Amino acid sequence: MQTTEKKMLCPDKNCQLCPRLVEFRNQNKAKFPHYFNAPVPSFGNINARLLVIGMAPGLNGANKTGRPFTNDYAGDVLYPCLKKFGFAQGEYLKKADDNFELIDARITNAVRCVPPQNKVIAEETNNCRRFLQDEIKNMPNLKIILVLGTVAHNTLLSNLGYKKSAFKFQHGAKHFLTKENIILFNSYHTSRYNINTGVLTYDMFEKIMSDIREELNVL
Ligand code: URA
Repeated sequence: MQTTEKKMLCPDKNCQLCPRLVEFRNQNKAKFPHYFNAPVPSFGNINARLLVIGMAPGLNGANKTGRPFTNDYAGDVLYPCLKKFGFAQGEYLKKADDNFELIDARITNAVRCVPPQNKVIAEETNNCRRFLQDEIKNMPNLKIILVLGTVAHNTLLSNLGYKKSAFKFQHGAKHFLTKENIILFNSYHTSRYNINTGVLTYDMFEKIMSDIREELNVL
């Protein structure tokens, strides 16, 4: 297994690439001065084999704590499931200093700053793409990418230079990115909305995680 210590391309704490997100950040800094209020860095080791990609930080979740999915409802679904399948250890206490650790997994977002109304626009996924691209380039052992929802799916495909029509997003789908030798898994986002409406159940999500574990066991 290779390891890398290379310097990653990360957005500056005061990143100015997306005017709408900068304005929202400034509003949040005034309203919630004790929040993180900056682009949220990825969580987990760069040498991991699994990369999970979400959409963007939640206002009172990752944007507050500074760690992806942390204190977000979506994290309450994601983190216990990662732990159940051996991708995490420790206790997830919804804060960045809880000593909860990922094992062979890393988590990032298609857009690293919190968007208003929890919705990102195309310009923002495009602006933020350079960071995801660099992240993927710098993961020497990457074997599996799990995208949570269509925003992450479409951003990833654009990043890698694939047409959206080449790999249709479908919950449970497993796509082979032959150029990169990576397997791409699709899952509905673990959002409160998807869980409350039954679009995604815990069982459905566990099945994906179990398939990923099995896949990694034979790779
Ligand atoms: N929190 C994140 O960090 N990403 C998401 O996609 C949702 C919540």
